[in-house]
Amino acid sequence: SDRHFEATVGDITISVQEGDLTQERVDAVVNAANKRLDHAGGVALAISRAGGRKIQEESDEYVKKSGTLTIGQAMHTGAGKMPCKYVIHTVGPKWHSHGDKDTVKAQLYEALHNVLYYATSRLKATSIAIPAISAGIYGVPVEVCAEQLVLATLKFVHSSPGNNTLRDIRFVNIDGQINRVFVRAFSGSL
Ligand code: ADP
Repeated sequence: SDRHFEATVGDITISVQEGDLTQERVDAVVNAANKRLDHAGGVALAISRAGGRKIQEESDEYVKKSGTLTIGQAMHTGAGKMPCKYVIHTVGPKWHSHGDKDTVKAQLYEALHNVLYYATSRLKATSIAIPAISAGIYGVPVEVCAEQLVLATLKFVHSSPGNNTLRDIRFVNIDGQINRVFVRAFSGSL
Protein backbone atom coordinates (compact mmCIF):
# COMPACT_ATOMS: atom_id res chain seq x y z
CA SER A 1 0.00 0.00 0.00
CA ASP A 2 0.95 3.64 -0.46
CA ARG A 3 3.05 5.02 2.40
CA HIS A 4 2.41 8.64 3.43
CA PHE A 5 4.45 8.84 6.57
CA GLU A 6 7.02 6.86 8.50
CA ALA A 7 8.83 7.56 11.75
CA THR A 8 10.95 5.52 14.12
CA VAL A 9 10.57 5.71 17.88
CA GLY A 10 13.23 3.59 19.56
CA ASP A 11 12.97 0.30 17.64
CA ILE A 12 9.36 0.80 16.57
CA THR A 13 8.30 1.99 13.13
CA ILE A 14 5.08 3.99 12.99
CA SER A 15 3.52 4.64 9.59
CA VAL A 16 0.45 6.02 7.86
CA GLN A 17 -0.54 4.18 4.69
CA GLU A 18 -3.22 4.31 2.06
CA GLY A 19 -4.80 0.94 1.33
CA ASP A 20 -7.25 -1.78 2.25
CA LEU A 21 -6.72 -2.82 5.87
CA THR A 22 -7.88 -6.36 5.12
CA GLN A 23 -4.89 -6.97 2.81
CA GLU A 24 -2.19 -6.01 5.35
CA ARG A 25 0.41 -8.68 6.10
CA VAL A 26 0.64 -8.06 9.84
CA ASP A 27 0.10 -10.15 12.96
CA ALA A 28 -3.05 -8.24 13.91
CA VAL A 29 -5.57 -6.08 12.12
CA VAL A 30 -7.81 -3.90 14.30
CA ASN A 31 -11.55 -3.76 13.72
CA ALA A 32 -13.72 -0.74 14.56
CA ALA A 33 -16.54 -2.98 15.78
CA ASN A 34 -19.85 -2.34 17.52
CA LYS A 35 -20.85 -3.71 20.94
CA ARG A 36 -22.70 -6.69 19.46
CA LEU A 37 -19.79 -7.56 17.16
CA ASP A 38 -22.25 -7.33 14.30
CA HIS A 39 -19.94 -6.75 11.37
CA ALA A 40 -22.51 -5.10 9.14
CA GLY A 41 -20.92 -1.88 7.88
CA GLY A 42 -17.76 0.11 7.32
CA VAL A 43 -14.40 -1.47 7.97
CA ALA A 44 -16.08 -4.25 10.03
CA LEU A 45 -18.00 -5.44 6.98
CA ALA A 46 -14.84 -5.25 4.84
CA ILE A 47 -13.00 -7.43 7.42
CA SER A 48 -15.90 -9.86 7.75
CA ARG A 49 -16.15 -10.25 3.96
CA ALA A 50 -12.41 -10.59 3.39
CA GLY A 51 -11.92 -13.08 6.24
CA GLY A 52 -14.99 -15.15 5.48
CA ARG A 53 -17.72 -16.64 7.65
CA LYS A 54 -15.41 -17.64 10.51
CA ILE A 55 -15.02 -14.10 11.84
CA GLN A 56 -18.74 -13.45 12.35
CA GLU A 57 -19.18 -16.97 13.76
CA GLU A 58 -16.41 -16.54 16.35
CA SER A 59 -17.79 -13.11 17.20
CA ASP A 60 -21.31 -14.47 17.73
CA GLU A 61 -19.94 -17.24 19.93
CA TYR A 62 -18.08 -14.73 22.05
CA VAL A 63 -21.13 -12.49 22.55
CA LYS A 64 -23.29 -15.53 23.39
CA LYS A 65 -20.80 -16.63 26.05
CA SER A 66 -19.48 -13.34 27.43
CA GLY A 67 -22.04 -10.74 26.44
CA THR A 68 -21.64 -7.57 24.43
CA LEU A 69 -18.50 -5.46 24.56
CA THR A 70 -18.22 -2.15 26.37
CA ILE A 71 -16.75 0.95 24.73
CA GLY A 72 -12.98 0.60 24.63
CA GLN A 73 -12.92 -3.13 25.39
CA ALA A 74 -10.75 -5.37 23.20
CA MET A 75 -11.09 -9.06 22.23
CA HIS A 76 -9.77 -11.07 19.30
CA THR A 77 -10.86 -13.61 16.74
CA GLY A 78 -8.95 -15.44 14.02
CA ALA A 79 -8.51 -13.77 10.66
CA GLY A 80 -10.01 -16.42 8.35
CA LYS A 81 -8.77 -15.96 4.81
CA MET A 82 -7.02 -12.64 5.41
CA PRO A 83 -3.20 -12.51 5.32
CA CYS A 84 -3.02 -11.37 8.97
CA LYS A 85 -3.15 -13.80 11.93
CA TYR A 86 -5.67 -12.14 14.23
CA VAL A 87 -8.37 -9.52 14.28
CA ILE A 88 -8.49 -7.40 17.44
CA HIS A 89 -11.98 -6.02 17.79
CA THR A 90 -12.65 -2.90 19.80
CA VAL A 91 -15.61 -0.54 20.13
CA GLY A 92 -15.03 3.16 19.70
CA PRO A 93 -17.34 5.85 21.09
CA LYS A 94 -20.05 7.52 19.01
CA TRP A 95 -19.96 11.27 18.43
CA HIS A 96 -23.00 13.23 19.59
CA SER A 97 -22.95 16.87 18.57
CA HIS A 98 -24.48 17.87 21.93
CA GLY A 99 -22.56 15.36 24.04
CA ASP A 100 -19.47 15.57 26.20
CA LYS A 101 -16.48 15.79 23.87
CA ASP A 102 -13.91 15.10 26.58
CA THR A 103 -15.55 11.76 27.38
CA VAL A 104 -15.43 10.75 23.73
CA LYS A 105 -11.77 11.72 23.50
CA ALA A 106 -10.89 9.76 26.63
CA GLN A 107 -12.81 6.70 25.38
CA LEU A 108 -11.04 6.78 22.03
CA TYR A 109 -7.65 7.08 23.70
CA GLU A 110 -8.54 4.22 26.05
CA ALA A 111 -9.76 2.03 23.17
CA LEU A 112 -6.45 2.23 21.34
CA HIS A 113 -4.44 1.88 24.53
CA ASN A 114 -6.34 -1.33 25.30
CA VAL A 115 -5.83 -2.61 21.75
CA LEU A 116 -2.06 -2.03 21.87
CA TYR A 117 -1.83 -3.57 25.32
CA TYR A 118 -3.90 -6.57 24.19
CA ALA A 119 -1.78 -6.99 21.03
CA THR A 120 1.45 -7.16 22.97
CA SER A 121 0.41 -8.92 26.19
CA ARG A 122 -2.12 -11.44 24.82
CA LEU A 123 -0.98 -12.00 21.23
CA LYS A 124 2.74 -11.11 21.33
CA ALA A 125 2.13 -9.32 18.04
CA THR A 126 5.06 -7.59 16.36
CA SER A 127 3.01 -5.79 13.71
CA ILE A 128 -0.44 -4.22 13.78
CA ALA A 129 -2.65 -2.32 11.31
CA ILE A 130 -5.15 0.17 12.73
CA PRO A 131 -8.12 1.95 11.12
CA ALA A 132 -9.54 5.38 12.01
CA ILE A 133 -11.69 4.00 14.84
CA SER A 134 -14.96 5.99 15.27
CA ALA A 135 -14.18 8.36 12.36
CA GLY A 136 -16.60 6.64 9.95
CA ILE A 137 -20.17 5.67 10.82
CA TYR A 138 -19.62 6.71 14.48
CA GLY A 139 -19.08 10.29 13.34
CA VAL A 140 -16.08 11.41 15.39
CA PRO A 141 -14.37 14.27 13.49
CA VAL A 142 -11.21 12.88 11.93
CA GLU A 143 -9.03 15.55 13.60
CA VAL A 144 -10.31 14.44 17.02
CA CYS A 145 -9.82 10.79 16.11
CA ALA A 146 -6.28 11.31 14.81
CA GLU A 147 -5.30 13.40 17.83
CA GLN A 148 -6.35 10.71 20.30
CA LEU A 149 -5.05 7.70 18.37
CA VAL A 150 -1.69 9.41 17.85
CA LEU A 151 -1.49 10.38 21.54
CA ALA A 152 -2.33 6.85 22.66
CA THR A 153 0.25 5.35 20.29
CA LEU A 154 3.11 7.65 21.27
CA LYS A 155 2.34 7.33 24.96
CA PHE A 156 2.24 3.54 24.62
CA VAL A 157 5.53 3.21 22.74
CA HIS A 158 7.27 5.60 25.14
CA SER A 159 5.96 4.09 28.36
CA SER A 160 6.44 0.37 27.71
CA PRO A 161 9.65 -0.11 25.69
CA GLY A 162 10.80 -3.23 27.57
CA ASN A 163 7.67 -5.39 27.49
CA ASN A 164 6.27 -4.15 24.19
CA THR A 165 6.46 -6.76 21.41
CA LEU A 166 5.24 -4.35 18.71
CA ARG A 167 7.84 -3.18 16.17
CA ASP A 168 5.58 -2.06 13.31
CA ILE A 169 2.46 0.04 13.95
CA ARG A 170 0.55 1.04 10.81
CA PHE A 171 -2.43 3.34 10.41
CA VAL A 172 -4.18 2.21 7.26
CA ASN A 173 -7.11 3.89 5.54
CA ILE A 174 -8.59 3.60 2.07
CA ASP A 175 -9.33 7.32 2.20
CA GLY A 176 -6.34 9.57 1.45
CA GLN A 177 -7.99 12.61 3.06
CA ILE A 178 -8.12 10.81 6.40
CA ASN A 179 -4.50 9.73 6.08
CA ARG A 180 -3.41 13.32 5.55
CA VAL A 181 -5.00 14.27 8.88
CA PHE A 182 -3.13 11.42 10.60
CA VAL A 183 0.16 12.50 9.00
CA ARG A 184 -0.40 16.04 10.29
CA ALA A 185 -1.20 14.73 13.77
CA PHE A 186 2.00 12.63 13.87
CA SER A 187 4.14 15.40 12.38
CA GLY A 188 2.86 17.81 15.02
CA SER A 189 3.64 15.51 17.94
CA LEU A 190 7.02 13.99 17.02
P1 ADP B 1 -16.79 3.47 13.04
O1 ADP B 1 -18.11 2.76 12.98
O2 ADP B 1 -16.00 3.13 14.29
O3 ADP B 1 -16.91 4.94 12.81
P2 ADP B 1 -16.13 2.74 10.27
O4 ADP B 1 -15.91 1.34 9.88
O5 ADP B 1 -17.41 3.37 9.85
O6 ADP B 1 -15.90 2.84 11.87
O7 ADP B 1 -14.95 3.63 9.69
C1 ADP B 1 -13.67 3.70 10.21
C2 ADP B 1 -12.69 4.10 9.12
O8 ADP B 1 -12.37 2.95 8.34
C3 ADP B 1 -13.21 5.15 8.11
O9 ADP B 1 -12.27 6.20 8.07
C4 ADP B 1 -13.26 4.41 6.79
O10 ADP B 1 -12.87 5.26 5.72
C5 ADP B 1 -12.22 3.33 6.99
N1 ADP B 1 -12.36 2.11 6.18
C6 ADP B 1 -13.47 1.49 5.72
N2 ADP B 1 -13.17 0.36 5.06
C7 ADP B 1 -11.81 0.24 5.10
C8 ADP B 1 -10.86 -0.70 4.60
N3 ADP B 1 -11.25 -1.79 3.93
N4 ADP B 1 -9.54 -0.47 4.82
C9 ADP B 1 -9.13 0.60 5.52
N5 ADP B 1 -9.97 1.53 6.01
C10 ADP B 1 -11.29 1.36 5.80
